[in-house]
This record gives sequence, C-alpha cells and structure tokens, in this order.
Amino acid sequence: MPFYCPYCGEEALRPAGPKGGSWECDACRRGFELRFTRVVTTGGDGG
Ligand SMILES: [Zn+2]
Repeated sequence: MPFYCPYCGEEALRPAGPKGGSWECDACRRGFELRFTRVVTTGGDGG
C-alpha cells in the first residue's frame, strides 16, 4: 500500500473498492488507484 497520499501527503489512507489498488484519503477525500507497471532497471548506484 502507499505510505502517503500523493495529493495532500497525509497518511490517512484506507482501501477502497472491492479489489486491491484503490485507495481513499480521509484527509483530502480524494480517491485514487495504484498499479504496478513495470520493473525499472537503472543500473544501480551512481547511475
Ligand atoms: Zn489526501
């Protein structure tokens, strides 16, 4: 799960909807979805 709301930065997140990936923020009342897109390969340190 996300640690902070991407909109207001609060930690008042709770799951929303019947399936995973949807969240609601109790602080700013926004709902949003998170989903995995791809594995990022950046070559490690110092890139
Ligand atoms: Zn928020």
